Amino acid sequence: MKLYNTLSQQFETFDPRAQTTRLYVCGVTPYDTTHLGHAATYCTFDILIRYLEYQGGKVIFTENVTDIDDDTIREAPKRGTNWRDLGNYWTAHFIRDMIALNVRPPDFYPRATDVIPEIIAFAKTLIEKGFAYESGGSVYFHVNAYAKFGQLSHIPRDQMLAIANERGNFPDDPKKRDPLDFVLWQAQAPGEPAWDSPWGPGRPGWHIECSAMNYKTFGPTIEIHGGGADLVFPHHECEIAQTVNFTGESYFAKIWMHAAMVGYKGEKMSKSLGNLVMVSELLKKYSPDHIRLYLAKHHYRAPWEFTYADLDFSVSQCTHLTQAAQTQGGDGPAMDYAYAREQFENALADDLDSPTAAAGLCAFGEALIEHADARRDVTAAQTWLRRAANVLGLRLDAFGPEARVRSGWEQHSLRFPSA
Ligand SMILES: [Zn+2]
Repeated sequence: MKLYNTLSQQFETFDPRAQTTRLYVCGVTPYDTTHLGHAATYCTFDILIRYLEYQGGKVIFTENVTDIDDDTIREAPKRGTNWRDLGNYWTAHFIRDMIALNVRPPDFYPRATDVIPEIIAFAKTLIEKGFAYESGGSVYFHVNAYAKFGQLSHIPRDQMLAIANERGNFPDDPKKRDPLDFVLWQAQAPGEPAWDSPWGPGRPGWHIECSAMNYKTFGPTIEIHGGGADLVFPHHECEIAQTVNFTGESYFAKIWMHAAMVGYKGEKMSKSLGNLVMVSELLKKYSPDHIRLYLAKHHYRAPWEFTYADLDFSVSQCTHLTQAAQTQGGDGPAMDYAYAREQFENALADDLDSPTAAAGLCAFGEALIEHADARRDVTAAQTWLRRAANVLGLRLDAFGPEARVRSGWEQHSLRFPSA
């Protein structure tokens, strides 16, 4: 198949059967509820995993929980709780949404706070190799020590700085050598949680958490690293800088995949703008299949805008698909599905073109109903329809999420006891 690589800015051939695919996708920072933008990102990578497996590939999938972060520390006292309980509460909420949407659970689901020793080892090595420095109890990555910094985001330094400043960077931090240097370990601020380190008590920076969780799960290199497009810079740019200079490898992830942002009412869906559409709210009126089909009808790299009218249109399409899966044919000649199968597979092989795949499947469903009405044998066509729908995460006439979805997430949720 072909996948667009943010790093090379090119479509690259990826053979799911050539190796086990190690996939890392950045998870949520659990301080608020799951909105449709999150769901779109995780459903994109769910379709990727399902398609790689459909093609006979093997996938090992890690998603993380950024449980210690500026956001969790800042929000907890406002809600009369602490960062740990807040994180557990919203992680449990996120898991419920993922189960409802039939999103496959990761094989590994680490928290940042599970890998504090690994984070410290990472920072120590980067200091020893000359890519980082200690200053006043904090450790910073020195961007000028790494000539390839900017290779993923492809933007000039002044733009990098402007975006970093919006995402928690302190350009005027007097302890830094360069305003773009980013923190690997931050000295404890009054009242903040802290862990012991060679530089005194403190907590990890945001980007090093994912580098460490990735390394601990997979080792020095992986096949695919994914996340929302808002993570390209600074988060993923910084991850590459940390990881390749720690491991000494020429690359970190072969392919970097980014899911575009979802808009609503003319703006990017975001907490700060207050234009969020919550998955849990949609699930009160729409079935998981309605939402999954609606999401699949948008290409993962093209930003799009949520509307209720479009979601409502997916409802009738789902009804037809389900009807196609259930309808009774006759004993006439068997319905041919080779053309539909070829179209479906070619679409997903073309940089995960789920809108074309979904449209083809809907058209095939309509044709199947007509063939059944004409007393044709549709049994094999229905078996394939279910299999293809499953690649898009749809359940059609089956009830509730897949058993492996529920049991896998429930296993992970034991580590996030929520009051
Ligand atoms: Zn991350």
